[in-house]
Amino acid sequence: MTAEIICVGTELLLGDIVNTNAQFLSRELAELGITVLHQQVVGDNPARLRAIVEEAKQRSDLLVFSGGLGPTADDLTKETVAEVFGDPLHFDETEWDKIVAFFARTGRTPSENNRKQAMVPARGHKLPNDHGTAPGAWFEDGPHAAALLPGVPREMKAMWTEQVRPLLQKRQNCTIHSMTLRVLGGESSIAAKAAPLFESENPTAAIYCKTGESEIRVTARAATEAGAEALCAEHVARFRAVLGDNAYDVDVPGLAYTVVRLLKERGLHVTTAESCTGGLVAEKLTDVPGASEVFGFGFVTYAETAKSRLLGVDPALIERCNVVSGPVAVAMARGALAASGADLAIGITGLAGPGGALPGKPVGTVYLAGADARTGQARLVRLAIGGYQERSVIRARAALYALDMIRRMTLGLAPDGGVVLDPGQDVPEL
Ligand code: ATP
Ligand code: MG
Repeated sequence: MTAEIICVGTELLLGDIVNTNAQFLSRELAELGITVLHQQVVGDNPARLRAIVEEAKQRSDLLVFSGGLGPTADDLTKETVAEVFGDPLHFDETEWDKIVAFFARTGRTPSENNRKQAMVPARGHKLPNDHGTAPGAWFEDGPHAAALLPGVPREMKAMWTEQVRPLLQKRQNCTIHSMTLRVLGGESSIAAKAAPLFESENPTAAIYCKTGESEIRVTARAATEAGAEALCAEHVARFRAVLGDNAYDVDVPGLAYTVVRLLKERGLHVTTAESCTGGLVAEKLTDVPGASEVFGFGFVTYAETAKSRLLGVDPALIERCNVVSGPVAVAMARGALAASGADLAIGITGLAGPGGALPGKPVGTVYLAGADARTGQARLVRLAIGGYQERSVIRARAALYALDMIRRMTLGLAPDGGVVLDPGQDVPEL
């Protein structure tokens, strides 16, 4: 089946709003295995709209519209499509009653204009709108069909998900299943390693870039739900085989969820000694419901004196190595471990900027260390990537990599680009 998307609205053409509806609809259609051939935007102009509908109907099986279903004189999508599809509209009492009731709930009465919103196709059918006033419409003419959805994104998505997608799924004779694999690292490095896996048509795979990590959404179509799920799982396994340790979990909201789960499964407690992240790691951990089972408290030691007083970091070490250094990160982690009685501790010290760069230590230089009774890790990360030095981004990335160090220590994995340390061992230059 081939499809095109037609978004109606002058404010789209003027650049007043971003066409997020087209993006949503394109992605959804691709997941259904329907090939989208064109996306178009047209203003509230009946002649141009009509020309576009006629052309689109000739070349595509399915036309999906958003916008122009409102009560005003320039909302003409339904009237225009009805003409091109040769399906007259008629007044629907039930829809009208719903519109009157919708207005009554806010103490208003509908105007005469609203009557046109209760006009529905005679041969096709209406798509009821439970989230607004204007119903959508479904038209058919031989092999061609058109779905008319409201412009308001929330209403459009609800109508699509509740009514249009199930209808198309039945026609495509398939069910759909999606899984989201989360991977540490940027889009380009992942794309380079796993390029062929993104070319698959079923399952499809799409990558979305987040701060310090990426999401890979894998979607499969099959005759049964179990079949679609199995196809997804196989494709996710292919990604994991190529991406290794950095692919950390499936269908979780973020790394902290994985970390809390892993600690819980092993009955471990973690503590944090944070400088440049100022408590962000603790915040991420405590965002996860049930985190109290694995996290009792952490330290935010921003000043040098706080590092010494609360964590027992030797002032002479700070003097000798600088407070932003591998040895101080390790001393923070070891000090937090001793002071807290936790099973695992993490230390973070770095330069979040924008000022304060040191020779050989530009803004974005962050030292991470982990310690437990048997082993430890230390790692230098440079987080001002490509000269991009936004303080909040550096801090968010540092917190993410600290969580990853907890994950790696919990699983007995080597640090990603750092060193493994014995307890008490001096820290080599990182
Ligand atoms: P209404 O009854 O509200 O007039 P409508 O179906 O006629 O609904 P429009 O008037 O085209 O829809 O759009 C309503 C609002 O929805 C717009 O002001 C805009 O904020 C948003 N909107 C419309 N089209 C899009 C789109 N393609 N992408 C994102 N937002 C959109
Ligand atoms: Mg409108």
